[in-house]
Parts: sequence; C-alpha cells; structure tokens
Amino acid sequence: MEQKKIIIAIDGHSSCGKSTMAKDLARELGYIYVDTGAMYRAVTLYAMEHGLYQGDRPDEAALEKAMPQIRISFRLDPQTHVPRTQLNGHDVEDRIRMLDVSARVSPIAALPFVREAMVRQQQEMGRQRGIVMDGRDIGTVVFPSAELKVFVTASAEVRARRRYDELTGKGQAADYEEILRNVQERDYIDSHRAVSPLRQAPDALLLDNSAMSITEQKAWLLERFRETLRKMGK
Ligand code: C5P
Repeated sequence: MEQKKIIIAIDGHSSCGKSTMAKDLARELGYIYVDTGAMYRAVTLYAMEHGLYQGDRPDEAALEKAMPQIRISFRLDPQTHVPRTQLNGHDVEDRIRMLDVSARVSPIAALPFVREAMVRQQQEMGRQRGIVMDGRDIGTVVFPSAELKVFVTASAEVRARRRYDELTGKGQAADYEEILRNVQERDYIDSHRAVSPLRQAPDALLLDNSAMSITEQKAWLLERFRETLRKMGK
C-alpha cells in the first residue's frame, strides 16, 4: 500500500540550517522541497533591481502595484536535483543569497500584501501534499494543520559562523561581524512584525542544533518523520 504523503513544516531563525535539513529530508522521502525564504528574497531582488525604494525604505505603493509582475518559480538543478529559484524566468539562486539582499529582505517580508501573495502561492504548492517547506510561518500560518512541525534554532553566533563559512566556502568575501549583525537584526524584525511574526507553533517540536552535526540533525528529523507516521497509524 502506498504511504500517505504528509506536509512537513520547518520553521526557525535565520541561518540555522533549516534549508539543509529540509532539502535532505525531501530528497530522502521523494517529497517536494520549498524554500519560502527564497521567495521573499526574490521579491526583494525585484524591488532592488527596479528601484522600488525611497531611500532605504521599500516604496510600498510601487511594490504593491508591481506584485502581479513578479513571478517566482523553482527549477530543479539537473545535477544536484535541488530547486533553484527563478525570478521572471531568470535564475537568481546565487544572487538572492548575497548579503545586500539579506540586509533588505526582512522589511519586505513584513509587508502584508507581499505575505498574502507568497502564502497563497505556498498553499497552492502544498495541495498535493508530499512537501517539506521551510520558512518562518509555515506551521503557524501557511499549513497550521501540517502533520509534522519542527522549530529550529541555534545561538546567533553559531548561525553567523555557519553563514560565514558557507559564503567563504563559495569563494565570496565575508565579514563575520557584519553577518552576525544581519542575523540578529533579521531575528528581531521577523519576531516583532505585526503580520505572521516568527514564533514556535504550540504543536511544533523544538530543535536546538547549536551543538549538532548535519548528520545528527538528519537522523533526528528522519526519526521524527517515522514517529509521525506511526502515530498516524500508517
Ligand atoms: O530563510 P531565509 O533566511 O532565506 O529567509 C529570508 C527572510 O525572508 C527572513 O529573514 C524573513 O524575513 C523572510 N521570511 C519570512 N517568512 C518565511 C520565510 C522567510 O518572513 N516563511
């Protein structure tokens, strides 16, 4: 009998390794992986490239008007089978990870009309189930009835170090202090915004991975998945 497919929501703080865990689990299960942070980053990149700013602040009226023109999709990398973010048909996967986008994304992600459009698209992607989605509000807003919810965190210093290693590993210049400030700033904005603030859903399992290796996290998550299926009687 074919196993019933479920929805797995992975939320948590910036740069805590959510995507790596989520991606690995999706590959292992043959599920679809969706990185919702990439969607907010792509909207931010669009605003940057089209000058939709008034000084440092997003030009809300102009961005709201432009929303129907922003098409975000994912294309599987033929080699790694990992989805790459596309903005209006262009591959922006590497560009959206750069620090200038990271520095601007949280204010854009706090805008209600941006969230509404992204959440609608995310819910549509999960209609067939069999999905691992990572973000900030997946277990609370996008899929409140997801069968498995995980809330991931780690200390800000550990997260900044990982992000630094990731960027320098790709040969990009990086400044640890600047990254740490960015991580702390995004935590603050994400947790204090009026719409869908970052918080742990009451039924989410907490994972503090400060002292865990990727292999340990992977095993932990797979065990939680099996446990969920057992509880559902599958
Ligand atoms: O996950 P990542 O760090 O790439 O997300 C970038 C930013 O997008 C976050 O700092 C947050 O402001 C926003 N975000 C969000 N809701 C989500 C995913 C990301 O507000 N579901």
